[in-house]
Amino acid sequence: MNCLLKVSNLKAIYLVREGTIKATDDVSFEIFENTAAAIVGESASGKSTIIEAMTRTLPPNGRILAGTVEYKGKDLLKITEEELRTIRWKEIALVPQAAQQSLNPTMKIIDHFRDTIQAHGINWSKDELISRASEKIKMVRLNPETVLNAYPMQLSGGMKQRVLIALALLLEPKILILDEPTSALDVLTQAHIIQLLKELKRKLNITLIFVTHDIAVAAELADNIFVIYGGCLVECSPTVEIFKNPKHPYTKGLINSIMAINADMSKIKAIPGDPPSLLNPPSGCRFHPRCEQVMDICKKVRPPLVQLSSGTKVACHLYEEGGYGE
Ligand code: ATP
Ligand code: SF4
Ligand code: MG
Repeated sequence: MNCLLKVSNLKAIYLVREGTIKATDDVSFEIFENTAAAIVGESASGKSTIIEAMTRTLPPNGRILAGTVEYKGKDLLKITEEELRTIRWKEIALVPQAAQQSLNPTMKIIDHFRDTIQAHGINWSKDELISRASEKIKMVRLNPETVLNAYPMQLSGGMKQRVLIALALLLEPKILILDEPTSALDVLTQAHIIQLLKELKRKLNITLIFVTHDIAVAAELADNIFVIYGGCLVECSPTVEIFKNPKHPYTKGLINSIMAINADMSKIKAIPGDPPSLLNPPSGCRFHPRCEQVMDICKKVRPPLVQLSSGTKVACHLYEEGGYGE
């Protein structure tokens, strides 16, 4: 499989009055062509920060301290703003978290399409714009005649999410990144969006990277799952493998907590304890205060991400040479 995007040792922080929030700490992963990768973790674990650092869209108090993001032989973190502009949307498009709120309530949907091409220096005629926007709106299974002339407030949450996906597809990117594409939607609408993304991936040969706090959504759509805990990547695995055989104690807890509805409730264990503060994260393994299998070394030494024979990569001392995790 062809590696399309390679993130190595990415480190990003936020500057706040009290110090620095260590939101992305030494995160590395690879994205393969025509696959869907899910970045999964609980709220405030640093999922959006990874996406924003990769795409250089961090808020003003965010800083990238280290790392590379390789795409087609270039480091996206090093290229000029001008070069980045040629890659954004045309090669890599992003639908940020809560993007629905960024739709301008005073502008019709077609005007959002016009703004997008203008922002990228493209001069299509009015007819061409309408034709291309209609094509994308149809692709997300909406009716262009009504939707393009509607104002955002006339559309439901699910329709707005489809419009945002259509907008992101306008310049036919190779990689589509979506931050929480299904949150804040009802269960049925969520299922439709997941179905739509599956269909787009198949039809357009597009590569998807999406963020979700819901591992069940990841299970539906992703080929590979990256589990984030406290700003660190703790497990990276093919989806089937992660459900069959989760390795990291945190991943096991996550999977356990969704063995829902038909499972024997007495066997379901929520993960005890609270997520770590990223202002003063725990030393060594950031999961150690919550881990039932904690050892002395875990409090002192951060576990490296190691590759196991199953294809899984895991950052846990239990799986290092001589460990007894496998
Ligand atoms: P959610 O699921 O709630 O969207 P997330 O996993 O995407 O969460 P991030 O938004 O990446 O998490 O946040 C990671 C950490 O960085 C959190 O502790 C959060 O409070 C903090 N953070 C995020 N944005 C900022 C900011 N602009 N300034 C300061 N801290 C921030
Ligand atoms: Fe638990 Fe130690 Fe593994 Fe961290 S490194 S998950 S504390 S066993
Ligand atoms: Mg987020």
